[in-house]
Amino acid sequence: MATDFPEDLAAGYGRYLQKGYVRFREAQERLAIYGQRPEVMVISCCDSRVTPEGVFHVGPGELFVVRNVANLVPPYEETEGQHGTSAAIEYAVKVLKVKHIVVMGHAQCGGVRAFRETANAPLVTGEFIGRWIKLLEPAAIAMACMPVDKLDDPQLAMEYAGVRQSLKNLRTFPFVDAAVSAGALKVHGAWFDIGSGELRVMDPETEKFEPCLAAGADDT
Ligand SMILES: [Zn+2]
Repeated sequence: MATDFPEDLAAGYGRYLQKGYVRFREAQERLAIYGQRPEVMVISCCDSRVTPEGVFHVGPGELFVVRNVANLVPPYEETEGQHGTSAAIEYAVKVLKVKHIVVMGHAQCGGVRAFRETANAPLVTGEFIGRWIKLLEPAAIAMACMPVDKLDDPQLAMEYAGVRQSLKNLRTFPFVDAAVSAGALKVHGAWFDIGSGELRVMDPETEKFEPCLAAGADDT
């Protein structure tokens, strides 16, 4: 077959058929027949170094994932436009009835860096990234007013603040807020360090990020 399809991908797919699919064959056949029923949604960055299924070591059907630049949740809006992340949240909460939504930030986030470096000279409004990362503006304001994590590392502080803001924005979706209030849904903040593999989870009381295994020891 004459195709420009990347050879590495084709070769990887071959390995998947031999190993990955074989490993999950039964699960995938069940998923195909009965449909997906993931209990967890993860909102993560597009960054190729941050793969939710890899970080949480799960197979097909276990995570409902949406990835976008800088793992941002926009506020609830009824304006016209293509609200991709909001559509995924709606599907997760209303149809799949997930029990948890995890917003997972990460180290060295290029989207966060773009916001920080253009804070005084934003990208032109016609560009997609510039408009998208403006969602971080309230996070920057909140961070400036917040004594928590007065860090020597402004990039890390902004990554944390972006997760906090996304969690706030999640609650502006009426169906999310209703599910949380009813106790049917929990929302969580997390942050992943690419180099060390460390995962930190946000304490909802203090809004500080703490090591996952200590914070969530009773979940294991
Ligand atoms: Zn990122």
